[in-house]
Amino acid sequence: MKVLWCWRCQMDIPMLDEEEFARVAPLYMASAKHLLAFKAAKKRGEVAVLPPVCEEYERLTGFRETNPNAVMHHRLSLYGPPCTKCGKPLRTPQARHCAACGTPR
Ligand SMILES: [Zn+2]
Ligand SMILES: [Zn+2]
Repeated sequence: MKVLWCWRCQMDIPMLDEEEFARVAPLYMASAKHLLAFKAAKKRGEVAVLPPVCEEYERLTGFRETNPNAVMHHRLSLYGPPCTKCGKPLRTPQARHCAACGTPR
C-alpha cells in the first residue's frame, strides 16, 4: 500500500499494490447487493455494514471507503510514475505528460 494523489477523488488516498488488490478484487464481484443494503441502512440511520470489498480495503489501509467502485481504482498499477514537476502520479503508466500541470514526461 502506498498513499498517492488520486485525480478521480482529488485527494491523497491509499493505493493497493497487486498483492493487496488481488485480495479485494474477488470481493468486488459480490459487492453490488451489499452496497444497496448499505445505502438503505444509512438512509434509515442504522449502523451500516460495509461491503466486504470496502472492509478488506479498510483492513489493509486503515482508510474507511464506502464506495466499492472507488476501491477498484485505488490500484497502484493503474497509475504512472510521479510527475517530475508537481509530484502527482501520471494518470496511466503510458501517459506522455502530466494531466495536472502539463509537464511532458
Ligand atoms: Zn480515487
Ligand atoms: Zn505534474
